[in-house]
Amino acid sequence: MTDLRELYQEVIIDHSKRPRNFGELPGANRKVDGQNPLCGDKTTIYLKIENGVVQDAHFVGAGCSISMASASMMTEAIKGKTVTEAEELFHHFHALITGEERDDDAPDLGKLAVFSGVCEYPVRVKCAALAWHTFKAALSQQGGEPVTTEGSR
Ligand code: ZN
Repeated sequence: MTDLRELYQEVIIDHSKRPRNFGELPGANRKVDGQNPLCGDKTTIYLKIENGVVQDAHFVGAGCSISMASASMMTEAIKGKTVTEAEELFHHFHALITGEERDDDAPDLGKLAVFSGVCEYPVRVKCAALAWHTFKAALSQQGGEPVTTEGSR
């Protein structure tokens, strides 16, 4: 178990130091700001959605390593997925980090399983969830208010 935990930490550190899909996305048709006031994490999610498919996803932000790694890995995970598939992924991921779902119930989470450990740290759950809540808001975006993890379930 220790080895697995170390591996998970390595993946998170790698993504937080070298975030993938980092930077504004030219041609994005969705853009939503999110923040996690508890930790000070901020993220902006850019999406290019065409024909019900997430063609591209980028993010810009600053925050703790969990929030950065989560946003980085999320953009990788949702790219190429249909909006419906991406929403399902959101639900599985959310269940994973809140401890409602065990790893083996969600084989399709792949690398995202590295976040399974955060369910033991309630404060960290918001860090891991920030990018996803922001993404969810971007899917149904009508513009308007920034997303915050406060008040979210
Ligand atoms: Zn954080």
